[in-house]
Amino acid sequence: MRTPFIAGNWKMNVTDREALAFVDAVKDRIPSNDEVESAVCAQSVSLKGMRGKAEHTDLRIGAQNMHEEENGAFTGEISAPALASIGIGLVIIGHSERREMFNDTDERVNRKLHAALEHGMTPIVCIGEKLEEREADRASEVVRKQLEQALQGVEAEQVKGCVFAYEPVWAIGTGKSSNPEEAGEMARTIRAYIREQYGQPAAEAVRIQYGGSVKPENIAEYMADEDIDGALVGGASIKVDSFLSLLEAAQ
Ligand code: PEP
Repeated sequence: MRTPFIAGNWKMNVTDREALAFVDAVKDRIPSNDEVESAVCAQSVSLKGMRGKAEHTDLRIGAQNMHEEENGAFTGEISAPALASIGIGLVIIGHSERREMFNDTDERVNRKLHAALEHGMTPIVCIGEKLEEREADRASEVVRKQLEQALQGVEAEQVKGCVFAYEPVWAIGTGKSSNPEEAGEMARTIRAYIREQYGQPAAEAVRIQYGGSVKPENIAEYMADEDIDGALVGGASIKVDSFLSLLEAAQ
């Protein structure tokens, strides 16, 4: 049995003051990790403060990105060791906004994934097709290719600890969510790929989230699919009540 996992991706939308107030507001209302795992991924300036406030709760605090190198002349970047040094054990890798705007190529996604795994972090690896790729009936092919490249050199035991977020690019932040059947089909494509390459135990262990305009009103439709194990949620994860409703719906 896989534990459902709901993760918020706040992008660049929440100030430090708001982030800390959010943790204060939710911290006594977070369900136990046995029922549903929960996380919010915030801007880097807030991670340490949020981590401190969430210390004795099951709410995980994650980064939205990190650099693939351990250290060096990469002005403005954040490393896995720096994140680990403040107790951050979760990171989003290869979000489509980073792929589109910040040169997160498949090769860099692979290197970032290795860096995360080497530092014992849980990676949420984002994959998903663009609208024109779906319209050309290439969604499965695109996602399989992204998986193949992201997972180069990763061992089956490590794959088990990865989380994959299937996020059709056209559904992110647009209000146009994918229909649950299509999302379920893509989750099965991802699991089938893991099974072919890494075996049944890895395929059974990996958690696959759906992401793309998920909100309290539609999350149950996705969670009803046995291959969808949770959601990566942008806009609807920022407000306290909305976030708590998502967690409740996922239990
Ligand atoms: C995301 O940021 O990964 C996302 C899915 O955003 P939204 O829920 O706002 O579509």
